[in-house]
Amino acid sequence: MIFVGATLCGRPIFLGEIMNSADIIAYVKEHGIFDRNAELSCQEIGDGNINYVFRLADKATGKSVIVKYADELLRSSGRKLCTDRSRIEAETLILHNQLSPGHVPEVYHYDHAARLIVMQDLADYENMRYALLARKTFPTFADDISTFMAQTLIRTTDNILDPMDKKALVKSMINPEMCLISEKLVFTEPYTNHYGTNTPFEENTEFFKKELYGNEALCLEAAKLQDSFKTNAQALLHGDLHTGSIFVKSGSTMVLDPEFAFYGPIGYDVGNVVANLIFAWVNAEVTMPNGNEKSTFQTWLECAIRDTVDLFYSKALRILKNEATDRMAQTPGFAEWYMQNVMSDSAGMAGLELNRRIIGDAKVADIAGIKDRDARKRAERICVLYANKLILGRNKRYQSGEEYLKTLREIRIL
Ligand code: ADP
Ligand code: MG
Repeated sequence: MIFVGATLCGRPIFLGEIMNSADIIAYVKEHGIFDRNAELSCQEIGDGNINYVFRLADKATGKSVIVKYADELLRSSGRKLCTDRSRIEAETLILHNQLSPGHVPEVYHYDHAARLIVMQDLADYENMRYALLARKTFPTFADDISTFMAQTLIRTTDNILDPMDKKALVKSMINPEMCLISEKLVFTEPYTNHYGTNTPFEENTEFFKKELYGNEALCLEAAKLQDSFKTNAQALLHGDLHTGSIFVKSGSTMVLDPEFAFYGPIGYDVGNVVANLIFAWVNAEVTMPNGNEKSTFQTWLECAIRDTVDLFYSKALRILKNEATDRMAQTPGFAEWYMQNVMSDSAGMAGLELNRRIIGDAKVADIAGIKDRDARKRAERICVLYANKLILGRNKRYQSGEEYLKTLREIRIL
């Protein structure tokens, strides 16, 4: 057994050792997060493939915290994965909280050696993916998420940060193993099945052969977008900004789980949000009976898509125009040129996220959870055809939210 360098109440922690409830309770008491005499409940509530997430609550006061533990071995497959992701997650949460307060859970304590993050419990929030599947709407969502993205992304670019600070942050946030996962799952597999990990829905096998693997023009665009993902150290990205990383309640939006954070192209985060709103829209399209309820819900989603894009654009542009510290970034026309590229990237990345969640092995409940096989077949086709329009048309269209909706209306008639 390999000692990782940390101890828990005097007991050494070994590589690959899974923490249990008793360990976690001992840990939070030892570090003064709860009183030594407190009677605590501890429940493992993780639902992802990667880490362990515990909710600890004081039975007397009801005070609770979340403890996230990054094991050396993946929770799902047992494969090894670097634990530096835990440092990157903790540091990103702290930075995001400074840049966009009120949109990120507060970090109370981080232990590098033990790979433990103790943070605010969002007990009264719900996972946005499942909230959307329950047809709930969140009127402040577009405003909240566009603020979060404009603040965390634009303020970590070369335009705003001190040049030495920016370079130091790029270096500290280099996240090779997590980036490799995205490079493989988002950019490579959907277009090649190179590693043989795709899990296509049987009824669409031939459709995917034509629209994805056999679509040479599309594969070339995916290759170009991957190059941008690998080389464009534009801003500190969240890196996994899907609706399962967003927790919502009425009037408030929180973004968690930035373990894929790294310096990459801004459009990757923006595109992820848009794509995951599209999944919710497509789910409603194929599973809800036509009528008022469906039209109200889809109209809300369409406004959320349009406003997320447009509000992000205007907030980002405002920061660039008013607060750029780099002398050349102050050149008239630069901010508009910069944002034009960001919007093109966003459309392309949204398309890639749509495709990879359909054909790849990391599926989303919005689509893979559709029970009726014909409905699922249609949902997948809508997503892929929509995605391909975004990827191939990203340099001509999609500078505004309305462009995304126009394409959605064209695709709906399929
Ligand atoms: P993973 O990196 O393993 O995917 P996540 O950070 O996504 O882990 O957390 C998994 C689940 O744990 C979330 O879907 C949520 O239900 C719960 N969770 C994580 N962090 C919090 C938090 N701060 N407050 C409340 N629940 C949380
Ligand atoms: Mg995660």
